[in-house]
Amino acid sequence: MGKSKVVIIECRKYKQDLVDQAVSEAVELLGGWERFVAKEERIVLKPNLLARCSPEKACTTHPQVFAAVGRSLRHHGYENLLYGDSPGNHLIGVEQTAEGCGILREARQLGIEAANFSEGQQVDYPQGHAADHFVLCKGALEADAIINLCKMKTHQLERITGAMKNTFGCVYGFNKGASHARFPNADVFGKMIGDLNLLVRPRLHIMDGVMAMEGNGPQSGDPTPMYLLLASADPVALDSVFCRLVDLKPELVPTNVYGQKYGIGTYEEDQIEVLTLEGPISMEVAVSRWGNADFNVERGEEFQGQLKVIGFLQPLLDRKPFVKKDQCVGCGICVQACPLEEKAIYLKKGKPVYRYRKCIKCYCCQEMCPQKAIDVKTTWIAKIADRNWKI
Ligand code: SF4
Ligand code: SF4
Repeated sequence: MGKSKVVIIECRKYKQDLVDQAVSEAVELLGGWERFVAKEERIVLKPNLLARCSPEKACTTHPQVFAAVGRSLRHHGYENLLYGDSPGNHLIGVEQTAEGCGILREARQLGIEAANFSEGQQVDYPQGHAADHFVLCKGALEADAIINLCKMKTHQLERITGAMKNTFGCVYGFNKGASHARFPNADVFGKMIGDLNLLVRPRLHIMDGVMAMEGNGPQSGDPTPMYLLLASADPVALDSVFCRLVDLKPELVPTNVYGQKYGIGTYEEDQIEVLTLEGPISMEVAVSRWGNADFNVERGEEFQGQLKVIGFLQPLLDRKPFVKKDQCVGCGICVQACPLEEKAIYLKKGKPVYRYRKCIKCYCCQEMCPQKAIDVKTTWIAKIADRNWKI
């Protein structure tokens, strides 16, 4: 088997002609649309529509990237196009979220209808490594092909949310929250995401990294320019290139580890070919040209450190969510987002309070807070462990 190809195209602005060109070049370098999708297929574009966030927040796939992909497919004669994602807050509809992210307008202009992501269907998956079933959005199940339009962002649980993690939006509504309770730590959650990718298998992954998100992602982080569009048929290779560009070891991301283990792709540098408009380049050159070692992402190795084997010490190593009271408006979305039957967060005098002993550290509360009022802190003991016990 040949190496996994990952295309890197520089794109300095969300300007229609620049993004159109970047998308066309990326797809051409990978062999053209016909390598991935057939004209008669029902194709679903799957952007990241985590929440109703304006494009400037870099929380969701930028509408220009979505539109560029839609336009390019239309230009090449693809008629049967739809779009869909399951937003983080299942009480807010897909179209309402897409409207807030600027994607609905582009979709309407291109005549791309919403697929049915408002209904779910259980799919048994007995061969799964962690999950024996999923409740998937009907729109994802009815698709012949999914094109994954992911965002280059940080994530408190999995460190990054790129191509692999973006398929989680094919899981229907509140089942996403329930999945956090079923798969309550980064490792087992990564296994489940691996299973999901085996089941859903998007044909192509295009990552919007023109304006990425660093820090307290996936919703409350800070936009930071990377000026890049990445594309690959291999989501693990794609995510691992993102990792290397931000000086994060790919093997610290569970979705990479299980993605490789399950045969979805590879994060090994010698198995990846980086393609650019000037031809193939080494990872080293790519990193020296486009890398950002100051990108704010969790690089600590405490979860993998030697203390992990001593089970009772694990709570001392877990990173804890906390509320920044001055930013909190008491909306209670964090409480709704907690997937536990007996919530580990509740409102007291209008402000959220944690029950840390019950908390499984899934960070759904942090992910869904619209005010950036929840952050996650590393304990001092985890910091010491990180400095002293490297993998
Ligand atoms: S979601 Fe954020 S703003 Fe709303 S109550 Fe929770 S912490 Fe406060
Ligand atoms: S309180 Fe937050 S981190 Fe803890 S279990 Fe609930 S949603 Fe997850």
